[in-house]
Amino acid sequence: MISYAKQFISKEDIKAVVEVLKSDFITCGLKVQEFERRFSRYTGSKYAVAVSSGTAGLHLACLAAELEKGDELITSPLSFAASANCALYCGAKPIFIDINEQGLMDENSLKKKITKRTKIIIPVHYGGLPCKLDKIQKIAKKYKLIIIEDAVHALGARYKKSKIGDCKYSDMAVFSFHPVKHITTGEGGMITTNNRKYYEKLLMLRTHGITKDKSKYVSKVKSQISNIGSWYHEMQLLGYNYRLTDIQCALGISQLNKIDSFIKKRREIANKYDKAFKNAKNIEIIKESKDQFNAYHLYPVRVKENKTRFRIFNYLKKNNIYCQIHYIPIYWHPYYQKLDYKKGLCSKAEDFSQREISIPLYASLKSEEVNYVINKIFEFF
Ligand SMILES: *Cc1c(COP(=O)(O)O)cnc(C)c1O
Repeated sequence: MISYAKQFISKEDIKAVVEVLKSDFITCGLKVQEFERRFSRYTGSKYAVAVSSGTAGLHLACLAAELEKGDELITSPLSFAASANCALYCGAKPIFIDINEQGLMDENSLKKKITKRTKIIIPVHYGGLPCKLDKIQKIAKKYKLIIIEDAVHALGARYKKSKIGDCKYSDMAVFSFHPVKHITTGEGGMITTNNRKYYEKLLMLRTHGITKDKSKYVSKVKSQISNIGSWYHEMQLLGYNYRLTDIQCALGISQLNKIDSFIKKRREIANKYDKAFKNAKNIEIIKESKDQFNAYHLYPVRVKENKTRFRIFNYLKKNNIYCQIHYIPIYWHPYYQKLDYKKGLCSKAEDFSQREISIPLYASLKSEEVNYVINKIFEFF
């Protein structure tokens, strides 16, 4: 069976996990900080905060940015529900913006969507292809908006000279370590930022809003700080338990060691698909521009019609190739329909979604398997 995505776990990964299991700390230990340090070094950010999932990361990033009831958050409908759900968690309203030819937020329509209530923009680097971050940032600055990148697909991607996650063009960036993503910790996520205020708040929010940092105490005990017991701590914010364990962080560190080879492999496979489908009449591919370095989380292609997509999906499945659709427009889901988002709201995203199919792409996909996928696709047409 060939699926659209799959993790790669090596002997070293297993060894790293077993070592933690035999140690004193399986959570709240030093592996967490080590993973964060390594991750921020890789992405080029000042700070990184490990969390229990990408979704938890988006939620906390919105809380750190003080997203509240009555506020609006602009994001792409061609994404996983979590990109918009984070607004709902905070009582805010997701506003959907249409996409361009590459499946990315169309920055030219941004201004039309901005109101007095807009607080956050969440660009989604769909499939691993970075959005035009400099243009989005320019608009965000003008209207004093906060940018949180949904960088879940884009670990290792670059826009112009900036590595995604370095937050050159944004306030925070969020990653996921679900097994289908570039590196995995089972479940897990990371937020990167260069802003110390956000960083400190994120650290507290991920662990119940509690701090054990003496310099941050706000109660009266502050005046007698030298006398208080080492058990003392303060809950200052309503936070969550969104921590990542040391077991998971050890796996994350070991996986991160392999990221460059993973990306290289993904790009080789994508290159092979590009060549095969470049002149195909029935298949549209997405090309990267000179400013974009695609990390290729996905390889999305579009066929001519929804009917064809349905048939090719089933044809490939019969041949043991398990593709996936990315995505059903977020506001088409029944929960959002009940919130009164009308179908037709973002027509380009809807059309894209109806014709899209993501074909297999992962680091351990063999060359013969890539050929098999290509052959089966041509056989279908
Ligand atoms: C996977 C994914 C998420 C959520 O990450 P989890 O770690 O599964 O919570 C968010 N946004 C996008 C675009 C994703 O693909």
